[in-house]
Amino acid sequence: MTVYTMKQQAIAARIDEDSNLLHWKDWRWQLRNAIRDLDTAERLLGIRLPDEDRKAFRNTVKRFPMSVTPYYLSLIDTRDIGNCPVFRQAFPSIRELSLERRDMRDPLAEDLDSPVPGITYRYPDRVLFHASNMCAMYCRFCTRKRKVGDKDEIPSKEQLSKGIDYIRKSPTVRDVVVSGGDPFLLSDERLDWLLGELQSIPHVEVVRIGTRTPVVLPYRITSGLIDVLKQHHPVWINTHFNHPREITSSSKAALAKLADAGIPLGNQSVLLAGINDCPRIVRSLVHKLVMNRVRPYYIYQCDLSEGLSHFRTPVGKGIEIMESLIGHTSGFAVPTYVIDTPGGGGKVPLIPNYLVSWSTNKVVLRNYEGVIATYEEPESYEAIFCERDCKECQLHLKLEDAEEDKAVGIEKLLADWDTTISLTPENNERIVRRG
Ligand SMILES: *Cc1c(COP(=O)(O)O)cnc(C)c1O
Repeated sequence: MTVYTMKQQAIAARIDEDSNLLHWKDWRWQLRNAIRDLDTAERLLGIRLPDEDRKAFRNTVKRFPMSVTPYYLSLIDTRDIGNCPVFRQAFPSIRELSLERRDMRDPLAEDLDSPVPGITYRYPDRVLFHASNMCAMYCRFCTRKRKVGDKDEIPSKEQLSKGIDYIRKSPTVRDVVVSGGDPFLLSDERLDWLLGELQSIPHVEVVRIGTRTPVVLPYRITSGLIDVLKQHHPVWINTHFNHPREITSSSKAALAKLADAGIPLGNQSVLLAGINDCPRIVRSLVHKLVMNRVRPYYIYQCDLSEGLSHFRTPVGKGIEIMESLIGHTSGFAVPTYVIDTPGGGGKVPLIPNYLVSWSTNKVVLRNYEGVIATYEEPESYEAIFCERDCKECQLHLKLEDAEEDKAVGIEKLLADWDTTISLTPENNERIVRRG
């Protein structure tokens, strides 16, 4: 039994007088009736924005279009619309048009690191596969804002096959991140085929899907979709709740179906000015997530994509939020705060400092309460000098292909078996001078 809110009843009736709420839970009906213009949005919400805002709205959608599902629209608090976190995520703002010096079209260099269309290959063992360029809602803070408003279309099997072939020919890839757009806007049949193809690749150990449908179109999580997903384990899903207000009875039902299907659920939030840049909001969000069997995974610093400047917070806000979580709440409710570094360097985690000082046998730590504590290190620790000969090692870890592993970055500097003593930037002037 679903209890519809007054607003949902009103919106449904205004969309279609006869059908009323009959189709509300039909995800294709929700998509067909996605709101793409101001007049419809105002009519359905029973509001009228000030003339000035209406003009600004029209200017913005010319550059960055709008699309909102009736369901997500129904979560807007019309009594305090200017401050409503749902409204701010869904409705165009004139500030999207102001470009800042640091803004970039493709800050994460996703298009540069793309060997074939649809694939971003950044880390040796995992790829990002853009399997759909459709979304149920156009989030105003989209990191791929450059692509929002491109023609909505489901990539053909031929197009997807090129990505799949690339993965098949890349034996180091063990993890495929299926993203988009939103992969759950593909039909069940197409997803079944895609996941089946990926599953048939021997070196692909795990597939994860990034989707915002549990937030903006929870009715997409049908039993038909669940039946498909269950056929292709291990499938992990990351969803994208940004605010506790997005966790509704409908989204809870969608999450329960996914969790009951044995799918480990994670959540990626973006830190957004005026939406969730508050320790109390984030704490409430992560608590609601874990109650629904969703593990908070990442909280992202907002990217430097064009049109997002008004959503960005200082990095200090993220650190402050992490300070308010670590130790104060369950460890599994704490996401990792990351900056996806401009230029394609990938994600870098940031946490407050807990290491206060260090001597040869003691570390000094501080905890979340401000207690300063010491940890004494062992008096005698016999380090095992590692020459990557796992057959000889007393730790009894037999890695047949250990030789193929290579250390990267600081890991390389720490490795006993690697003789590198420093990492030097290319064209370092001092080294160049040596000739
Ligand atoms: C985020 C991302 C991944 C996955 O990174 P994890 O830290 O493993 O979640 C992979 N490829 C690209 C290009 C990404 O942006």
